[in-house]
Amino acid sequence: MTDRYQQFSTSGVGRLLVKRLGLPNPEPLRRYKPGEPALPGPALVGGAGRLADGLGPVLKSAGIEVLTSAGADTQKYGALVFDATGITSPEQLRGLYDFFHPVMRSVAASGRVVVLGTPPEAAKEQGELIAQRALEGFTRSVGKELKRGATAQLVYVQPGAEDKVESTLRFLLSGKSAYVDGQVIRVGTHGGQATEPESWTAPLAGKVALVTGASRGIGAAIADVLARDGAHVIALDIPAQGADLAKVANRVGGSTLQLDITAADAPAKLVEHLKTRHGGVDIVVHNAGITRDKTLANMKEGAWDSVLAVNLTSQLKVNDALLAAGVLRDGGRIIGVSSIAGIAGNLGQTNYGASKAGVIGMVNAYADEYAAKGITINAVAPGFIETKMTAAVPLFIREAGRRMNSMSQGGLPVDVAETIAWYASPASGAVNGNVVRVCGQSLLGA
Ligand code: NAD
Repeated sequence: MTDRYQQFSTSGVGRLLVKRLGLPNPEPLRRYKPGEPALPGPALVGGAGRLADGLGPVLKSAGIEVLTSAGADTQKYGALVFDATGITSPEQLRGLYDFFHPVMRSVAASGRVVVLGTPPEAAKEQGELIAQRALEGFTRSVGKELKRGATAQLVYVQPGAEDKVESTLRFLLSGKSAYVDGQVIRVGTHGGQATEPESWTAPLAGKVALVTGASRGIGAAIADVLARDGAHVIALDIPAQGADLAKVANRVGGSTLQLDITAADAPAKLVEHLKTRHGGVDIVVHNAGITRDKTLANMKEGAWDSVLAVNLTSQLKVNDALLAAGVLRDGGRIIGVSSIAGIAGNLGQTNYGASKAGVIGMVNAYADEYAAKGITINAVAPGFIETKMTAAVPLFIREAGRRMNSMSQGGLPVDVAETIAWYASPASGAVNGNVVRVCGQSLLGA
C-alpha cells in the first residue's frame, strides 16, 4: 500500500513544508538487506554491569564496530548501547544522563538505543528494584525523543542469562527491528537455552515452520522471511485462498496445506499432516486472523463467535493437539499474533480486542509450562501495518493510525515477520513469554 504523504514529505518541496509547518516527518526506515552492515555506523557502548564484558565480542561478531568512548562532535553513531545492570540505587540513574546526554544528537538516521537492565522482580533489594523499574520510563521517553527513524528498547536480562542475549542484540541492532520501538523485552526470565546457529544468516536451516493465514498480507511476509532464514515453510490457509497460497509456497520453496483452522477436525488433520509429511514441526506461527467489526450493541453472535474461534480458541486447540501428539519437537517455537487493539481496546472491536488480548493470555499461561520442554511461546502485537486489511480502513482513521506513533508512518508486513523470525531462532531459546509490539511506538495502548 502506498503512503502518499510519506512520498510527498521526502520530496524537495515536501521536506521544506514539513519543516516549516512542523508536520509529521516519516523518515524512510532502513530495513535489513543481506550483505549490508547491521547498523548505519559504529556502536558506542557504555555502563558497567553484568553484561559489559560480553557486549564487545557479541557486537563485533555481528560485524558492528564498537567504540567505548565518545568520538568527535561530528561522529554519528549507529547505536548507543548501555549496560545498566550495575545500577542498584535510584541515585545511580544519573549514569544514564551522563552517558546519553552528550550523544543524543549524534544518533544516525535509523540508529538504535538499547538499554540493558535487570528484571525488577529479580532485584536483590528495594533500591535496585526501583532503579531498574525506572529504566522503562527512561527508555520509552528516549524512543519518543529520537528522530529520523531511530528507535530505543530496554532489554531486561535475568541474572544467569548473560550469555543468551546475542540473538536479541543482533535483532535490535539491525534493520530487522525497523518498526519496533519503545519496547521492553525480557531474556531468560522463564529459563531456556540459547543454541548458537551454525549460520546467523540461515539460523532456521533444517527447521519446519507452519504459518497459518499465509496466502497474503503479514502471513505471506512471514513465509518469505522464515524461508529466507532457511526453514521449510508449510503455508496454511482456507481452501478459498488456494491459488494465492500456492503462489506463496512456490515462491518460498515450501508446501501448502488448505485447511480451515476452526473446523472441528482441524487439529487432528494438522497433527496427521505434520507427522506423516514432515516428521514433526519446529515453529508454529498462529497468524490467521479475522475482523468482524461492530459495536457490541449491534454485533450479531456469529461475528463474536467467528472472531474468537479463528483468533484464539482454534489456536489453543492446535497447541494442545500438537503437544499431546508430540509433534512439536523439542526446542519448538509457538508464536502468536496479537494486536495493539488487544492492549488498548478499540471502538467496534470488542470481539477482536478480546481475542487478541486472549493471545497475550495464552503466552502468559503457557510460558513456564512449555519452558520445561524447551519450547518457547511469545507473541507480536502489530500496530498499523500497511496491508489490505488497513487499506480498507476509512481515510481519516487510516491517517490517524499511520501518524500517531514515533515513526509517523505505518509498518510493513516484513517488520512483523522479522520479529517473528527473531523469536523462531534457535538462539532465542531464552526469549520466552514476551509480547513485543511492532507498532513504531504507537500512542495507542502505550
Ligand atoms: P489478512 O486478512 O490479509 O490475512 C489473514 C489470513 O488469514 C487470510 O489469508 C485468511 O484467509 C486467513 N484465515 C482467516 N481465517 C482462517 C481460517 N479459519 N483458517 C485458516 N486461515 C484463515 O490479514 P493481515 O493484515 O495479514 O493480518 C494477519 C494477522 O495480523 C492477523 O492475525 C491480524 O489480526 C493481525 N494484525 C494485523 C494488523 C494490520 O495492521 N494489518 C494489525 C494488528 C494485527
